[in-house]
Amino acid sequence: MAAEVFFTDMRASSRLNLLDKLIRLFQRAGLGETIDKEDFVAVKLHVGEPGNLSYIRPPYVGRLVQEIRNLGGRPFLTDANTLYRGGRDNALSHFETALHNGFSYSTVGAPFIAADGLRGLDYVRVPISGKHIREARVAAAIYQADSLLVLSHFKGHLGTGFGGAIKNLGMGCASRPGKQEQHDNVLPRINKARCRGCGRCLRWCPMDAITLDGGKARIHPPKCQGCAECIAVCTCGAVSFSFAGDLVVLQEKMAEYALAATADKEGKCGYINFLCDISPDCDCNSWNDVPLVPDIGILASKDPVALDQASVDLVNKAAGKDLFGSHHRGTDWRAQLEHAEAMGLGSRTYRVIRV
Ligand code: SF4
Ligand code: SF4
Repeated sequence: MAAEVFFTDMRASSRLNLLDKLIRLFQRAGLGETIDKEDFVAVKLHVGEPGNLSYIRPPYVGRLVQEIRNLGGRPFLTDANTLYRGGRDNALSHFETALHNGFSYSTVGAPFIAADGLRGLDYVRVPISGKHIREARVAAAIYQADSLLVLSHFKGHLGTGFGGAIKNLGMGCASRPGKQEQHDNVLPRINKARCRGCGRCLRWCPMDAITLDGGKARIHPPKCQGCAECIAVCTCGAVSFSFAGDLVVLQEKMAEYALAATADKEGKCGYINFLCDISPDCDCNSWNDVPLVPDIGILASKDPVALDQASVDLVNKAAGKDLFGSHHRGTDWRAQLEHAEAMGLGSRTYRVIRV
């Protein structure tokens, strides 16, 4: 049976603004049914890296927090710490970045908690019968929450083509060791002809796995943890992944972690994708470029696979082409959807209900 995906566009008027439309969408999609009185409700989001401006705007989150409270739930905002060095790689920096980007208790109405603790090592081992993963290390606060509301800014991503609900679940709910496990087959390489020896990638590499050798960057594979930060920060395009096949495995591991993040939460998860400010790259970057297409709308569902499939279909329809495939050549985003469906996370068959 086709999964239901609810959609509202970005048009607004004096009678109905976007915050009211968001709540109407939440209600029509039945996401309130995932929350019982006194539930600890993990509102999983990405607060944006310092310098990035395309993350989900705090007022949207504030209205959803209010709606959760109206239902008797106990909401908290959360995300797991990043693998790479930046503004969100430990609980203190993550909290400060959340505040800096507008996610304070006074603006949003709920506290921000780093889901995997001070150093990213607070996790729960979740058994899973995956093709790659047997035991996922899911961030503890997300695993221990009673219900999960996943808010995703839908945008491009260099390793997975796009980032939506599956990525927010799989990579976003993984502890730092869990993230490392998903990346551990991805090895970047340096194109020496393009490298101008600026040293930027050396400074960002969290593992000190890069040196300058004869004025060119050189990666030392035993130290590399595959976080891809060097690819993101090189402005010369001198760093790329070794094999496209590695990215398929990355996406498959991510889909398996996504399933693990929903363990013991049957009927307790809801998902909302924001198809606005659709930037070419992830909000983990300390910048965002102009949107690839005009704002499309907001989608909600209880099925993260259907939600992402509907989202990418809408983006491609607006662009008139495979937008993320053409932008991130060598990355086939279909892998995450296909494997997530094969693992039983959801269905790629959907029907859109306009709200
Ligand atoms: S950031 Fe790019 S150009 Fe600069 S040293 Fe690293 S690979 Fe070379
Ligand atoms: S060399 Fe490896 S560990 Fe260092 S930034 Fe690049 S991918 Fe990450």
